[in-house]
Amino acid sequence: MQRHDVLVVGAGLAGQRAALEAVRAGLDVGMLSKLHPLRSHSAAAQGGINASLGPQDSVKDHVFDTVKGSDYLADQDAVEILCREAGPIVIEMEHFGTIFNRAADGSLDRRAFGGASYNRTIFSADRTGLALLQGLYEELSREKRLKVYEEWSALDLVVRGGRVQGVVALDRKSGNIDGFAARAVVIATGPFGRTYPNTTNSHASTGDGTALAYRAGAFLKDMEMVQFHPTCLPGSWILITEGARGEGGILRNGKGERFMSRYAPNKLELASRDVVSRAIATEVQEGRGFPDGTCRLELMHLGREKVETKLQEIVEFSRNFAGIDPVVEGIPVYPGQHYMMGGVSTNPRAETNISGLFAAGEAACVSVHGANRLGANSLLETLVYGKIAGTNAASSASKAPASDLSQADVDRAVQRVHAIWDRKQGEPPAVIRNDMQKAMREDVGIYRTPQQLEAARAKLVELQKRYLNVYVQDKSTTYNVNLTDALELGYLLDLAQAIVAAAILRTESRGAHVRLDFPKRDDANWLKHILVQSSPKGPALSFLPVTVTSYQPMERHY
Ligand SMILES: Cc1cc2nc3c(=O)[nH]c(=O)nc-3n(C[C@H](O)[C@H](O)[C@H](O)COP(=O)(O)OP(=O)(O)OC[C@H]3O[C@@H](n4cnc5c(N)ncnc54)[C@H](O)[C@@H]3O)c2cc1C
Repeated sequence: MQRHDVLVVGAGLAGQRAALEAVRAGLDVGMLSKLHPLRSHSAAAQGGINASLGPQDSVKDHVFDTVKGSDYLADQDAVEILCREAGPIVIEMEHFGTIFNRAADGSLDRRAFGGASYNRTIFSADRTGLALLQGLYEELSREKRLKVYEEWSALDLVVRGGRVQGVVALDRKSGNIDGFAARAVVIATGPFGRTYPNTTNSHASTGDGTALAYRAGAFLKDMEMVQFHPTCLPGSWILITEGARGEGGILRNGKGERFMSRYAPNKLELASRDVVSRAIATEVQEGRGFPDGTCRLELMHLGREKVETKLQEIVEFSRNFAGIDPVVEGIPVYPGQHYMMGGVSTNPRAETNISGLFAAGEAACVSVHGANRLGANSLLETLVYGKIAGTNAASSASKAPASDLSQADVDRAVQRVHAIWDRKQGEPPAVIRNDMQKAMREDVGIYRTPQQLEAARAKLVELQKRYLNVYVQDKSTTYNVNLTDALELGYLLDLAQAIVAAAILRTESRGAHVRLDFPKRDDANWLKHILVQSSPKGPALSFLPVTVTSYQPMERHY
């Protein structure tokens, strides 16, 4: 049994920033990660991180753009914190050693991004996530008191008497299961895009911590809000960063038209993501796409030098995964699942409804993104709210009684895992996962109908039953991916059910959630968050008011 004051589950940008803050508050901190920290999905982030550091720009403009982008579902008090802390936290990362692109005058270079009134996206070519993660990891490595548990998968979050007691986890290297007692726990396990097959998210993005918190009684929030990124490479679903449009890339349909002028006459390709994704899907559905069912993202007019220096990865991805050279031809693109606005519900102090349990990053939902996240606001959220989670987890732990996590808690997890592991026959996780992903892709996409959502709901009930018989063929103990796939599938199924339940309930269209039977936004009835809690009968739904401070809802135009 391991023991810490604060245990951070997840070592992406949110987890590392939380751990740094908690350890610098003088506490004994453990950080658990199922991957090597530098392999977290944060490393895949391309386009950049927002901060209103430009001469005309202001925190107020950043707040307004974020609230408008969210289709007014974001909590404005939380957005104000995000935007106010943006400049200081980006400069702090620069001091930690992250190398950002520079403008000719030596200041931090800024590129345009969707839904933003000014160029406010700070970047490191198209590898911003990796640059940030390396800078932060280097800083964290100075903290000799921090204990990092690499390649440990959390399996259980133990809550007793309304307070978190710690985590039980599997050592992927040996197959051992052990307990991690803690007075406070931070969930920072990242996205759950693997509920979909057509996702830009890494294989490890399976929502473990979000599902464990849900199972332990935490509320989830805004689960119906699933972001589709407009420009992905169909098939591999590799992301082509919004930075490509920020640098001047344009979209054309199969007839050669720059169709965004019909959907967003002012912002064109740099309208918010929900708007651009719907535009591409509509062009293709209405027969104006290319024969391969895509539109084209053109960069040729930007010139070889700009494309090859500022968008190096995009050039490589296009050449290696689509067999085309973006310096001379358009890139075939179609929207793919990219980001989950929903997650473990927190307040702006990163607190959940369970004492001692905090959450930050994509696993969480403080609701700074509401119904639609603006590009480059998510890396920002991981750092700002990761830091807040670390501070508040440290102060909660210093006041809390010792954890009573016991061997009995560990034994329960061992029994549960071995019930799956030792099963002699059943259905492979991959078969159930494929069926889940097919249902999510076909029925819980960019456009939603009640019939489709009901079909997905029924399918997920059936899949949960089949999951009771999931079969792990590999009985070995070292790096048993078959076993971890089976466990992760359980998380994805729970979260998919929560997404669908909330999507059925929200009878309006807002941001990324578009109901063909309710095509308009309905502020009178729906200016509120949906909360989802786990119950024996399935997802239980309730509401939470949206916090409005400065900006009353208006119609969105781009
Ligand atoms: C391809 C791509 C490009 C993007 N580009 C941008 C961009 O340019 N700008 C922007 O703002 N946003 C971008 N985003 C979004 C942004 O990168 C993510 O929202 C953010 O990095 C998530 O960080 P995180 O710390 O919450 O999670 P992650 O970085 O995913 O880290 C999750 C951590 O949790 C650990 N973990 C998971 N499960 C367990 C478990 N059971 N036990 C122990 N540990 C566990 C993992 O090992 C990992 O360390 C992009 C996303 C993608 C997919």
